[in-house]
Amino acid sequence: MAGKVKRKCSFCGRTDGEVALLISGMDGFICNECAEQAVEMSREFLQSTGKKNLSSKGKKLPKPKEIKDFLDQYVIGQDDAKRFLSVSVYNHYKRLMQAESADEVEIEKSNIIMVGSTGTGKTLLARTIAKLLDVPFTIVDATVLTEAGYVGEDIESILTRLLQVADYNVAEAEKGIVFIDEIDKIARKSDNPSITRDVSGEGVQQGLLKLLEGSVVNVPPQGGRKHPDQKMIPVNTKNILFICGGAFDGIEKKIAQRLNTHVVGYNAVSNTLQIDKNNMMQYIAPQDLKSFGLIPEIIGRLPVLTYLNPLDRDALRSILTEPKNSIIKQYVKLFEMDKVTLTFQPEVFEFIVDKAVEYKLGARGLRSIVETIMMDVMFELPSDANTKEYEVTLDYAKMQLGKANLSRLQSV
Ligand code: ADP
Repeated sequence: MAGKVKRKCSFCGRTDGEVALLISGMDGFICNECAEQAVEMSREFLQSTGKKNLSSKGKKLPKPKEIKDFLDQYVIGQDDAKRFLSVSVYNHYKRLMQAESADEVEIEKSNIIMVGSTGTGKTLLARTIAKLLDVPFTIVDATVLTEAGYVGEDIESILTRLLQVADYNVAEAEKGIVFIDEIDKIARKSDNPSITRDVSGEGVQQGLLKLLEGSVVNVPPQGGRKHPDQKMIPVNTKNILFICGGAFDGIEKKIAQRLNTHVVGYNAVSNTLQIDKNNMMQYIAPQDLKSFGLIPEIIGRLPVLTYLNPLDRDALRSILTEPKNSIIKQYVKLFEMDKVTLTFQPEVFEFIVDKAVEYKLGARGLRSIVETIMMDVMFELPSDANTKEYEVTLDYAKMQLGKANLSRLQSV
C-alpha cells in the first residue's frame, strides 16, 4: 500500500513539517509565508495601478460624519439631505459587509427619496457621493422609462448602466447604488387610478417597484428595449441602494393643504407650529407624495424621505466661490493654465448673484452669467503673451452683461 501523500505548498513546495501553517484550497495548498508574500504583492499592485480592492472587507468604512464633511466641501447648505444621505450610504456599506459575514439579523435597505426644486443640488449631491464610493454608481433619468410594450426604455434598462460601470461584473453591480432622477415624472396624472392605461405613470411605477423591493430581473446588456434574441443578464436588486430625486413641481400646494387641515383641526401641536411659508418643502410627508401621484407601494419602498431647500441669495453667493470646485475656482484654474492670474473685484460676485436672482436663473444660471462675462477675455487672452494678470472689474462685468440678452437664459 502506498504511503500517505505528503501535503505541500503549491507555491514553494515545502511540506507540512517545514512550514508553520498549510492552508488548503480547492486543488492545492498555500503555506503561511507564501500567503503573506501574496498579500504584499497584491497590495503593491493595487497601489501602483490605483485600482481598488473590490472586497469590502478590511476597507475603511467612511462614517456618516465623514461622508457629510466630504459633501460639505462641494455642496452648499442642504444639511438635512446631506445627513440623510450620509446615514443611508453608511448603512448600505454595513449591510454589504453583513451579507459577507452571514449574520442572522438581516438589515433591510432604506432607499431614499429627495424632493427639491430643480437646480438645488440633488444631482450634485448624488455625483459627489459617487466620488467617495467604492461601489458601482450610476445616474438614470426616469423620464425615458415607459411600461413594457410601449415606446421608450424598459425599466430594466436602469440596471444596464450599473452593469456597464461595474464592467459587467454582476456581483459588483448587485452592491451598487442607482440615482433615479426626475422620479416625479412617472407620477400618476390624477389621484384616481384610471381604467385606461397610463403608459408613463402607474405602469412604470409598478415596474419600478419590482426593482426597489428586491428581485431578480433580466437586464438587457446593451440597454434600450428588450429584444427577443438578446441574451439577458439576471441581476438581483436586493442589495442595490436606490436614491430617487425629483422636483415635484406644485407639491407645496399639497403640503399646504395638508398642513391647513391640521391647523384648523384638533391637532394642538400643529396649531402652535409656526409655518414657514417660503419653504414648504421642509414639511414634506409621505402622504404628499401620494397626493402627487406616486403609488403607496413605491412610497413604502422609499422609507427615507428628505428635502432640499430653495437657494436664497446667500446660498447663491456661496455657491459661486466656496465649493472645492466652485465656478470661480474653475475659471481661475483655466487662466492659470495659460499662466495668467485671474482675479475679480469682490463687487463682481454680488453683481452676478443679483442678476441670477433678478432673472430667476438659480444656481445653474450662475455659470451662464460668468460665461457671458468672461467670453471675450477668454477669446483674446490666450493670444496675448504680455498679460500675466487680469482683474475682472465691476464695470467690465456690467458692460459684458449689458451686451448680452440675459432673458434668453431664463428657460435653462
Ligand atoms: P438638481 O438635480 O436639483 O436639479 P443640480 O444638482 O443639477 O440640481 O444643480 C445644478 C448646478 O447648480 C450644479 O451643477 C451646481 O453647479 C449648482 N448647485 C446647485 N445647488 C448647489 C448647492 N447646494 N451647492 C453647490 N452648487 C449647487
